[in-house]
Amino acid sequence: MATVRLCHLYPDQMNIYADRGNIAVFRQRLAWRGHRLEVTDAGPGVEPSPDHDLWYLGGGQDRDQTMVAGDLATLKGSAMRDAADDGAAMLFVCGGIQLAGHVYVGVNGERLAGAAVLDLETTAGSSRLIGDLVIEAELDGETREVVGYENHAGRTTLGDAVRPLGRVVSGHGNDGTSGFEGAVRDRVIGTYLHGPLLPKNPWVADALLGWALAHAGEPVDLEPLDDRVEAAAHSAAVARTSHPNR
Ligand code: GLN
Repeated sequence: MATVRLCHLYPDQMNIYADRGNIAVFRQRLAWRGHRLEVTDAGPGVEPSPDHDLWYLGGGQDRDQTMVAGDLATLKGSAMRDAADDGAAMLFVCGGIQLAGHVYVGVNGERLAGAAVLDLETTAGSSRLIGDLVIEAELDGETREVVGYENHAGRTTLGDAVRPLGRVVSGHGNDGTSGFEGAVRDRVIGTYLHGPLLPKNPWVADALLGWALAHAGEPVDLEPLDDRVEAAAHSAAVARTSHPNR
């Protein structure tokens, strides 16, 4: 039995659209394979150890981001950058991807420095980008359709040290114009996909878990699970979108 050590950043402050459900997916998909998830919450004031195998930061509104940004940059950014460089797996969702970058300039023009784990920056626009979002995502050399829900004012621009998670098939993505969604470097994923993301996209969950187990020094093969319910949820969400290629 292997143990994956997860650091949950700001569980009380950054948790909209049930983003916390992603943690339940990590725990259950490990348990079904006889492995264990050990979760450490890292709220305000906590300086996390850089040795966690998996890191998670959910979405939040501008006011939530304003509340945590100073603490993130001063108490957590350095451990997060070290962990990312060391090959830890990370998932940042919406307000999370914005704070994982260099800077987020919010709707009121307030400039929040981020953790600088991902080479990107975000500025809020005057309209919100809202709706179901389908992308073609690439992970571990494989491309698959990933679906979720987006609701953000932020427009994210990627730097050279990240690649997009995928190409927008239906919806807005990072900025509504580039056709890109999310950002990836090493074992780190940032995305605008809420929903929560992982229950209907188990492929993404298993990619992150495989990376986290490798970081833990337990590179076990994650045997396939019976994902019929997850696949049905995925198909239902995709069918609801205005899919231009269908
Ligand atoms: N506050 C950010 C925005 O509106 C993020 C929102 C979210 O996490 N859904 O751009």
